[in-house]
Amino acid sequence: MSLPSKKRKFDRTTQDKLYFESYSDVTIHEEMLADKVRTNSYRLGILRNYKSIRGKVVLDVGAGTGVLSVFCVQAGAKRVYAVEASSIAEQAKKIVKLNKMEDAITVVHGTVETIELPESVDVIVSEWMGYALMHESMLHSVLFARDKWLKSGGLILPSQAELYIAPINEAVAEDRLNFWYTVKEQYDVDMTCMFDFARKCIMNNEIVVNSVSVEDVLSHPAKFAELDLYKATTEQVKRVSGAFSFECFGSSSVNAFCLWFSVTFQGEDKPLVLSTSPFKQETHWKQSILYLDEPVDVVQDTKIVGEITLSPSEKSPRHICAHLDCTIGEQKMKSKTFKLGESYSDE
Ligand code: SAH
Repeated sequence: MSLPSKKRKFDRTTQDKLYFESYSDVTIHEEMLADKVRTNSYRLGILRNYKSIRGKVVLDVGAGTGVLSVFCVQAGAKRVYAVEASSIAEQAKKIVKLNKMEDAITVVHGTVETIELPESVDVIVSEWMGYALMHESMLHSVLFARDKWLKSGGLILPSQAELYIAPINEAVAEDRLNFWYTVKEQYDVDMTCMFDFARKCIMNNEIVVNSVSVEDVLSHPAKFAELDLYKATTEQVKRVSGAFSFECFGSSSVNAFCLWFSVTFQGEDKPLVLSTSPFKQETHWKQSILYLDEPVDVVQDTKIVGEITLSPSEKSPRHICAHLDCTIGEQKMKSKTFKLGESYSDE
């Protein structure tokens, strides 16, 4: 990519074009389908609601390969509109045909904001969650579809989302920083003066998506936000914010906070939760890591309090920013703003 294009600020239409292009490739669909926790949760979440789906009309918002539409037909749906903006829609048509479901599933190539359907629907299904839940801002499209196409009393799968945060001692950053103390031993060259420089480079303001080990979590997590997809408005989900309070398990050093989410499928018997917690089986969302500027030592029962806000980046609304205010023990409050970039970005 040439330098001038790096500096260019793309308008909303160009950003959406780049966003949908990222879904035209096989890789992202392969990653999502290979994520068994994700795909099996949707499969079970849909099949367990067969009583509400049987004989009904479904809208699949962002159908991708059409996998969720196929699950809905397997659960007994009479008709499914599989709406997909990217050119993967052409593959979805082939998959529908291969599974002999062309009488039940209509693949509609277009954005859910612009397409027309011949009828309103009883059920909306969508896999809209991005990193730290809100990245990609696809939830807006689901809420738009709900307001335009869902019959009153209709079902949304999943219907609830929760966001969590926990303080961590992130091992990758810690090891990378400690590395500079090992150089002398290896090569007889002292490079310990690199520590501060490395800290600034590593503990920067990028939201890093990576797996966090259970051992690195320093307290019970806190739920800081909950979204009810039946009620939430686009305005409300633009800015998701909440307070947190922790008491540390024991002596360690906090160098980051870790964010994750879960979504819930209501069930006829019991709800089904798709969780991206570090305490659960890994998913392709992993966890989102927000590094502090520097590690802070804590002991058992050290209090950590603060607030976190997720909002779209001004420059690039499909990307999220996180603003963190936190007070660790006796320290004074610290604030830091983070951003999450992506491949379809100009950043
Ligand atoms: N449902 C599929 C794909 C989920 S990924 C699965 O579970 O495997 C989200 C998909 O939604 C992407 O393919 C993306 O192109 C599509 N999408 C995002 N916003 C959309 C919109 N506004 N209208 C139509 N499709 C959209």
